[in-house]
Amino acid sequence: MADEFDLFVIGGGSAGVRLARIAAGHGARVGVAESRFWGGTCVNVGCVPKKFMVMAAEYGLAADDAAGFGWPIERGAHDWARFIAAKDQEIARLNRAYTGLLERAGAQMFEGYARFVDAHTLEIGERRVRAARIAIATGGLPTRLEFPGSELAIVSDDAFHLPGRPQSVVMVGSGYIAVEFAGIFAGLGARVEQVYRQDLPLRGFDADLRVGVAEALAANGVVLHPSVTPVRLEAHGAVKKLFLSDGTSLEADCVFMATGRAPHVAGLNLAAAGVVTAPSGAIPINDQFQTNIEHIYALGDVTDRLNLTPVATAEGHALADRLFGGSERIVSLVGVPSAVFAIPPLASVGLSEADAPVGTRVFVARFTPMRHALSGRERRSVMKLLVDPVTDTVLGAHMLGEDAPEIIQGLAVAITAGATKADFDRTIGIHPTVAEEFVTMRTQTRVVGG
Ligand code: NDP
Repeated sequence: MADEFDLFVIGGGSAGVRLARIAAGHGARVGVAESRFWGGTCVNVGCVPKKFMVMAAEYGLAADDAAGFGWPIERGAHDWARFIAAKDQEIARLNRAYTGLLERAGAQMFEGYARFVDAHTLEIGERRVRAARIAIATGGLPTRLEFPGSELAIVSDDAFHLPGRPQSVVMVGSGYIAVEFAGIFAGLGARVEQVYRQDLPLRGFDADLRVGVAEALAANGVVLHPSVTPVRLEAHGAVKKLFLSDGTSLEADCVFMATGRAPHVAGLNLAAAGVVTAPSGAIPINDQFQTNIEHIYALGDVTDRLNLTPVATAEGHALADRLFGGSERIVSLVGVPSAVFAIPPLASVGLSEADAPVGTRVFVARFTPMRHALSGRERRSVMKLLVDPVTDTVLGAHMLGEDAPEIIQGLAVAITAGATKADFDRTIGIHPTVAEEFVTMRTQTRVVGG
């Protein structure tokens, strides 16, 4: 039987949609299957609705801050149902935008779960399709720690459609999702406690930001419980009781487990195609996105390399160009900037101080941003540059504070282009901004290992 498709993409998320759309644009016969929602995690239960939730929380805080500027705003109660409806309306619009993009590009869409029958054949419900090449872009799913009662906790997928805003939340974990949702629920008025096994949140980020984010969480009213892990969860009526490794327990009406995500490979029947996975379920690939089976590719979170939407879309685009556009381009995962939408947010590009070589020059600034001189809010910004002592190249830039992701995105261009500290120093600032601090840091704070 002849192949119906030049490429069949499993998964209509950030990686899969971009791959299918660009490949179809190059003239390939493309099919794409999605079993849950077009746009995947980011659009439906991730980055996009999460950012609306952060904004909702920030508006409440801004209403309080406005008094210092002469606006005596009465905050009132947050209308959860109205907000969720508005958010869902926008997400539905984005879902349509995604399917519209695929349609206009000429990709054939299938709603259903695709399953390998053999290395060139997939079954989607009642239908069978054959493709010369198959790409797996099925993303990841939130995981739960395994302890008695852990199924009573919610995970991030649940957080976007709770029937109401919980009165109290115990957040488990201190990675991206835990830090972001602790800020969201505290900002929306819930009592939030956060339990995590490290001494500071956000393992892997620069230590000055980790200290700053712990201070910011506490300033927002989040009660921090570092260096503990949960051991048991019980429900007593509407109240959940979480028992911790130090013998204490916490009560709340919602326990939120944000303890990582795992590659979504269950049900694909990869064995039928001979595709191997790591013990975590991640699909290993080479730098051309090929799995151990030459014509089967994997990209995005299912490969569990750098689980960020812009990485997934870059991979999808590069693979489409490679297969059908005559390009040899590969995607570098070095120097990828990222942000955590805490309140205030933080963002980083390049090396953290812990990863920088001995001798690296360190510049750090901590200050109260101008807005909070009048708002009276307890909030500090942290900005940091790491500089190679020999070449003067800026190795890393880090910021905690309002607009940090917007500012670091700009700096990421300069750092990708190899900017030196002298380039930063000769750049004229824009005054009065927070960002100008990055071009006016003259006094070295310390030297790594010094
Ligand atoms: P992370 O890997 O970022 O964090 C997982 C958290 O769970 C960490 O605090 C980790 O602790 C803790 N944990 C894991 N296992 C255990 C255990 N056995 N006992 C106790 N604690 C445990 O995962 P998230 O779920 O927060 O997010 C998943 C991924 O999604 C992120 O890594 C990121 O790639 C992506 N993401 C990106 C966002 C963004 O770009 N803004 C936003 C949200 C998600 P420890 O640190 O000690 O390992």
